[in-house]
Amino acid sequence: MSFQGTIEANCPSCTDGFDAPIWSFVHGGKDQALRDQAKASECNMLLCPSCGAAFLPEAAWIYYEPEDEILAFVFPPSYKAEETKWRDKMKADFAAMREALGDHLPVGHEPEVFFGPDGLASLLEFEDWRRDERDVMEFFAKDLKLSVYRASPAWARENGAPARLPYKGKTPTRASVIEGLKILVAANDRLTAWSDYLAKLEKDPSAVLPPAAMAAS
Ligand SMILES: [Zn+2]
Repeated sequence: MSFQGTIEANCPSCTDGFDAPIWSFVHGGKDQALRDQAKASECNMLLCPSCGAAFLPEAAWIYYEPEDEILAFVFPPSYKAEETKWRDKMKADFAAMREALGDHLPVGHEPEVFFGPDGLASLLEFEDWRRDERDVMEFFAKDLKLSVYRASPAWARENGAPARLPYKGKTPTRASVIEGLKILVAANDRLTAWSDYLAKLEKDPSAVLPPAAMAAS
């Protein structure tokens, strides 16, 4: 359920104006091609019908991927000069979207705000890398008969922690996660995201289990 709007675009090369469809809301979980374009910083790239120049129009759009709890507002780089104004607008739009999308929005996390396409591209690149790493971890966890706790991906990004945590036994708790992490890193010392998180958990006795992921994936 991505959707498009029409804008009047102006070519930065020949200054020709033309009407162009652009994505105003991209559901990256449902439209792989659009996710790929966003990852290449090419979402909404236009071709000028007069001179053939490729450019990104002065238009804001929203990227949404519930499984990884990503909601991002992508503003044109020129909007950076009025950052406060656009951040305020984002907050108002976000409140309205929360009403419309209900429970599907990540709770307790402000949307990401980017000026230009590269910040979102890096975030998606990073999530893909995390996903590969996670697949390796889950392979080992299964082999070691450990269960896997799904923590909030948004929490994981904010805290530089893995979003999937192995645990021993039936119930994910601080103690069973520590036990699971110990078994996991003993079996594979290259899973450094998990060994780092284990060290962090053990160093901080007040650290509790992270919030659970919202979306069923
Ligand atoms: Zn042109």
